[in-house]
Amino acid sequence: MLIKFNQSMQPFSIVIHGGAGTILKEDMTDDLEKAYLQGLQDAVNAGYAVLEQGGSAANAAKAAVVILEDNVLFNAGRGSVFTKKGVQEMDAAIMDGKDLSAGAIAGVRNVRNPVELAAEVMNNSDHVFLSGKGANDFAIKHGLKLEPDEYFFSKFRYDQWKAIRDGDNYSLDHTHQDVEELLKDKKFGTVGAVACDMQGNIAAATSTGGMTNKKYGRIGDSPVIGSGTYANNKTCAISCTGHGEPFIKAVAAYDVSCLMEYKGMSLQQAMDEVTLKKISGY
Ligand code: ASP
Repeated sequence: MLIKFNQSMQPFSIVIHGGAGTILKEDMTDDLEKAYLQGLQDAVNAGYAVLEQGGSAANAAKAAVVILEDNVLFNAGRGSVFTKKGVQEMDAAIMDGKDLSAGAIAGVRNVRNPVELAAEVMNNSDHVFLSGKGANDFAIKHGLKLEPDEYFFSKFRYDQWKAIRDGDNYSLDHTHQDVEELLKDKKFGTVGAVACDMQGNIAAATSTGGMTNKKYGRIGDSPVIGSGTYANNKTCAISCTGHGEPFIKAVAAYDVSCLMEYKGMSLQQAMDEVTLKKISGY
């Protein structure tokens, strides 16, 4: 996670994540560590630049996520994990806390920047959530950039998938070679950003390839407004990462917002309530 803020008369800020969990030192070379950190830095800088020029929180969150989607190291866009069928199916969402407008897409293939597609749904359609072929057709109609399957291929994702593809299990990314360890492990590479612009509006965006070996058609929490992504100027902007199913059952992001709005909790209290007590119980 990286935070960048400006405390002038009109303060603004951006926070990004490249997925929860830690990558073990033994799986990490100095060069790889540098590359991850650089990827995060590039993303936070891109979002910050939008805010600095007076851009909206939604555009800043989108700009940061686009950079991470283009970086093969993260599980979103180009670096998305493989499904059970050996392809990439991507989910993304964006929400503007100013007016609660939102856009989400699920199970799309070959779209270079799923977060841009989600923003297109938010800004240029009467709908909030498109999935599968409909979402792909919408991308084509609206001139979103597409890429061939090879663009989304990476050896390390392929190896992660190969290790578990014969079973029914699915797993988060950044895994060990050992299948048992891999299934126990809780490591993620989904990406997300939340931002607050000079006008005081907030927004959230999340993008993911989901989980390795996920069933074809499976949709995680990331594109589900209120579960993996939520923003409301009255309360907070949230982009989640982790095993999606418990987040969906908990309606996690919206629950944090509700605890703040209806019970007057602080963000920290509401987060503790939802992540430590609720989600961990599923
Ligand atoms: N939440 C994502 C999903 O379940 C996974 C992740 O955060 O890495 O699809």
